[in-house]
Amino acid sequence: MSQEIPTEQWAQVVEAKGGPVVYKKIPVQKPGPDEVLINIKYSGVCHTDLHAMMGDWPLPTKMPLVGGHEGAGVVVARGELVKDVEIGDYAGVKWLNGSCMDCYFCRQADEPLCPEPLLSGYTVDGSFQQYCIAKANHIARIPKECDLEAISPVLCAGITVYKALKESGVKPGQYVTIIGAGGGLGSMALQYAKAMGIHAIAIDGGEEKRTMCVDKLGAAAYVDFTTSKNLVQDVKKATADGLGPHGVIVLAVNEKPFQQASEYVRSRGTIVCVGLPANAFLKAPVFDTVTRMVTIKGSYVGNRQDTAEAIDFFRRGLINAPFKTVGLSELQNVYKMMEQGQIAGRYVVDTSR
Ligand code: NAD
Ligand code: ZN
Ligand code: ZN
Repeated sequence: MSQEIPTEQWAQVVEAKGGPVVYKKIPVQKPGPDEVLINIKYSGVCHTDLHAMMGDWPLPTKMPLVGGHEGAGVVVARGELVKDVEIGDYAGVKWLNGSCMDCYFCRQADEPLCPEPLLSGYTVDGSFQQYCIAKANHIARIPKECDLEAISPVLCAGITVYKALKESGVKPGQYVTIIGAGGGLGSMALQYAKAMGIHAIAIDGGEEKRTMCVDKLGAAAYVDFTTSKNLVQDVKKATADGLGPHGVIVLAVNEKPFQQASEYVRSRGTIVCVGLPANAFLKAPVFDTVTRMVTIKGSYVGNRQDTAEAIDFFRRGLINAPFKTVGLSELQNVYKMMEQGQIAGRYVVDTSR
């Protein structure tokens, strides 16, 4: 059944904490009984991949490590227990590569909270290689009419921000502030918010990101955190009644905006923390949090149903976030730009070059 699968392939390998990635040939692995092998065509580059290489988090990675968890491709082999995935199907490798499916959390479809997760590009090799393995029951099912290059950033960025918007409880016609709106997750968040009928206030730095957020992605307002003299006032003023946004999604990769959000969120509003800066802590005044009834919560990727829904928004043509494509061989350059906050939107790597 299966097409010709090579024994060797190109990959980007992290060989030591701190990097850089090394572009080299490594063996192609064989899928286990409950796994599929996906010929990755394109993979988005998430800031999480950079955190993983730098060892930013209190969770060890496998080493050597092939990063990547926004991999879109074609199923080329499957284990003998896999019945509902066909060779030739489009499929995506997402952050949650697998989970136990049997614990308290998995039993109620909260599988991102499984205590025994397999994480793509972190605890198992991910999508910065031409052939990647994933548990069949966790792959993203991608309809054939979808473009694999454009959909790849949906597989982490899209799913994550769609879930975070749902977790915020913000309703159509209300306001959400997206902190880090010019980045990979942020540009997706603006598109999902628009599709969900929510007014989005974008916060990021620089004119390139302003143009992208307002002119291309439909943000109602843009606040530049690098030049604003009073960011709190500027965000509140961007809502029609001046009371501030009903929800705030924090995607930034440093600590300050996590503290600042509680100053402008509307009373009874919700702050959803998604960004994962190294060694960061949350701090908010207890008095305000209590007397203004503010909710502060976290949101972590999405489950299989969120995945299907996020992909369906894309399939319907509602998600057009900008991306630039380079060869897999250029991944280290992408990390360099990402570190400096220079990327507007997402970079995607093409595994064929
Ligand atoms: P990115 O580098 O593409 O975007 C980050 C953006 O934040 C940049 O545009 C940057 O200019 C902006 N920024 C930095 N400081 C800011 C500030 N003070 N105010 C406003 N904007 C600011 O990164 P990304 O790929 O979008 O990822 C963002 C974060 O989300 C990372 O920490 C990543 O690990 C995390 N993440 C979390 C989940 C989850 O499930 N919770 C999933 C994916 C990624
Ligand atoms: Zn990610
Ligand atoms: Zn579990």
